[in-house]
Amino acid sequence: MKILKFGGASVKDAKGVRNLFSILQKTGYNDALVVISAMGKMTNAFEEIVNAYYNKKPELYKKIEFVVNFHTKIANDLFMNRSHYVYQEIQSTFDDLNLFIDQNSNIDYNYIYDQIVGNAEILSTKISSIYLLENGIENEWLDVRKCIQTDSNYRSAKVNWNNTCSQINYELEKQKLYITQGFIASDNLGRTTTLGREGSDYTAGIFAYCLQAKEVIIYKDVPGVLNADPRVFDQTILLNQISYKEAIEMAFYGASVIHPKTLQPLQRMEIPLFVKSFKDPLLNGTSIRKGITLEPKTSCFIVKKDQILLSISDKEFAFIMEDDISEIFDFLHQFRIKVNLIQNSAISFSVCIEDNFNSFKPLLEKLKSKYRVLYNRDLTLYTIRHFTKDSLNKIEEGKKIILKQLSRETAQIIVLK
Ligand code: ASP
Ligand code: MG
Repeated sequence: MKILKFGGASVKDAKGVRNLFSILQKTGYNDALVVISAMGKMTNAFEEIVNAYYNKKPELYKKIEFVVNFHTKIANDLFMNRSHYVYQEIQSTFDDLNLFIDQNSNIDYNYIYDQIVGNAEILSTKISSIYLLENGIENEWLDVRKCIQTDSNYRSAKVNWNNTCSQINYELEKQKLYITQGFIASDNLGRTTTLGREGSDYTAGIFAYCLQAKEVIIYKDVPGVLNADPRVFDQTILLNQISYKEAIEMAFYGASVIHPKTLQPLQRMEIPLFVKSFKDPLLNGTSIRKGITLEPKTSCFIVKKDQILLSISDKEFAFIMEDDISEIFDFLHQFRIKVNLIQNSAISFSVCIEDNFNSFKPLLEKLKSKYRVLYNRDLTLYTIRHFTKDSLNKIEEGKKIILKQLSRETAQIIVLK
């Protein structure tokens, strides 16, 4: 069995759905399970519905109309017949949404979010499945909520692996093509949960693990995993192969490769993951698997902007000891500050951090009551995996370097701007 995953960008319009059909034709679809996420930016559009509903905003009905029109337009482009049953399927999804909006009395934002946002995946898979059927690709639409079982931690639900694997193996028959949703799941009360934004890759990983699939292919709008972000670097190299470990390392330093959560189940079963372009599905793309760290062997660059370098020392210039460091980390954790680099000296302790939750100010107040604190804002952190003299030069040239740390495989350089 193989698992194919199509992201929002690949099915953002009718052309994308037609392309999905042609990819399946080209690559074969016997014994496959296709995971599809919400079309285009529909998850964001449904988030707006959640917010309008939660905050009792009058725009709610406009926001719903927007997503109704979006999906209807795609259906209009794909199906000639205006009384095709695809329209009833779309309508019934919106009937469910409206019923929820009318009848819900639960005030938990995260619960509401999951019940509403998941409809984007239901719509994308219904439309795609029916389009494939209509054009001769026999398939079965599968409600993923019958398969993936989680706890009730809405918006970042945790998978119950035992129940999930037995459900998946109970529900699915071999030799069939299934079309199912990414991102959503259900708890033991049958309520919809979600796995966190960008969770559809993880869904593909969960199915692969439970079905002991032969491979997973994720179709993206890039040719595969590159050695640098093409929006930042003009010359990038396609990585033909990377190891799971390398991919996890790169994700840790901030590369938008594949989330470690997706890789872990694959790594455990040694199931290879391919990242390919949905525009050129027959090209090899990148394979992520056990073995060679990186092929071709080349430096990989990861850039993080808006970094803060925070240096903390004792007011009396005493040594910074383990108990101080432990307290500082407690604060960082409390304020949900992400630490990207650590440097320690006798009298000062420095961390390069990211203020993703706007909590740097209160953290600063807290630290200042006990320590002497200095900081620099607006820094950029470059990480080079497998650095060379040349790749270091390339990054350092003409920049004001604030801090530099080298380990065997990784260089990290903090520069001004
Ligand atoms: N549709 C969801 C999102 O945009 C999940 C996914 O695409 O992976 O976050
Ligand atoms: Mg998406």
